[in-house]
Amino acid sequence: MLKKLVLIGGGHSHALVLRLFGNKPLSGVRLALITPDIYTPYSGMLPGHIAGFYSYSQCDIDLQSLSNFAHAQLCLDHVIGLDLKNRKVLCANQPTVDFDILSINISSTPTKLSVPGAVEYTIAAKPVAQFLEHWYQLQENAVRNPQKALNIAIVGGGDVELALSILAGVRKLEIYLFQSSKELMPSHHQSVRRIMRDILSNQDVKLHLGERVCEVVKLINKGLTIKCESGLMVTCDQVFWVTHASAGSWLKAAGIGTDDQGFILVNDNLQSVTHPHIFAAGDIAKMINYQLPKAGVFAVHKGNPLYENLRSMILGESLKPYKPQTAYFSLIVTGDGRVLANRAILPLPSHQLWWCWKDCIDRNFMAQSPHQ
Ligand SMILES: Cc1cc2nc3c(=O)[nH]c(=O)nc-3n(C[C@H](O)[C@H](O)[C@H](O)COP(=O)(O)OP(=O)(O)OC[C@H]3O[C@@H](n4cnc5c(N)ncnc54)[C@H](O)[C@@H]3O)c2cc1C
Repeated sequence: MLKKLVLIGGGHSHALVLRLFGNKPLSGVRLALITPDIYTPYSGMLPGHIAGFYSYSQCDIDLQSLSNFAHAQLCLDHVIGLDLKNRKVLCANQPTVDFDILSINISSTPTKLSVPGAVEYTIAAKPVAQFLEHWYQLQENAVRNPQKALNIAIVGGGDVELALSILAGVRKLEIYLFQSSKELMPSHHQSVRRIMRDILSNQDVKLHLGERVCEVVKLINKGLTIKCESGLMVTCDQVFWVTHASAGSWLKAAGIGTDDQGFILVNDNLQSVTHPHIFAAGDIAKMINYQLPKAGVFAVHKGNPLYENLRSMILGESLKPYKPQTAYFSLIVTGDGRVLANRAILPLPSHQLWWCWKDCIDRNFMAQSPHQ
């Protein structure tokens, strides 16, 4: 009997799954992708795009072409819930979609709900498409008023690539970076943190470490004021919100096993620990046996094992556990055509050579996607 495999979210893992189904078609399966947009940005090139090194078309993944290639039906919609008992996906605008096997790759959004003013007045880094709309608007305003210096605040210092890319993408900019802990980039080794801190200071980024933002207030004709628990107040034109990520509430509400932030708990087969016919990959998945950073590069790595296990599930074969790479080079874009490369405790100074290496990897990834 025909098996219905439904992919929710056109994330990095699903882009690869579609590419692989296109390369090795499987009979007896009906494939569908539900995602709100035809294009989705490839995160590896996102900092370079913000800094002005790549155009949008160079870093967008064309989900329509990929779906055509994989003979998958593309439904442009937001998923808002699941009826797990009857195996149905609930969409915002279209009728429900039936499934036998489900795979979820929808990423996450920054947590900001509890801070007054954050939802109304700040720009979240995710969804990326919305973030980019605001970013283009800001660039346009900067071009229209070249004399006016813009003050930008970034709340969340886990990933400073955004600050450096923004600095590179607009002239006459002051950046204030707020981080609740005393350290920037807590997931990196202190040697990397030290180098990045020096780079930020040299670029005149105002660092407010150990400052927890507790309110964002809109002032009439005067922009926004950031208020911190310490009493510090800073006025700025725009605020980007890049704090810890959380997941949409509909997953937990549907009854899928999740952690406290709502991320889907998966085993080494990338299978939900509570529902074996549901798979998850990318930022939305929390592998119970590994601590992996939430980054596009890990979502890409999971594409192939996810595809293999979806295929095995359809064919009734046994699944293969995925063992993520735990030692890897992290390549941090510094916004100036250079990259800081580091592996474990060994940071290599920010250099153009690492940029060329990263550029090559990223262009190669994009070149493999089918285009219309
Ligand atoms: C400014 C910025 C720069 C970054 N730079 C880097 C970098 O250099 N390197 C790196 O590795 N990571 C980077 N990241 C992180 C990276 O973007 C994420 O980790 C990555 O996108 C996660 O990939 P994913 O496959 O989980 O989901 P994504 O690639 O984000 O895709 C999720 C997809 O799901 C869709 N979707 C969402 N909700 C629903 C729904 N309810 N129903 C249906 N579809 C839905 C979305 O439209 C999207 O197509 C950056 C992030 C930001 C914001």
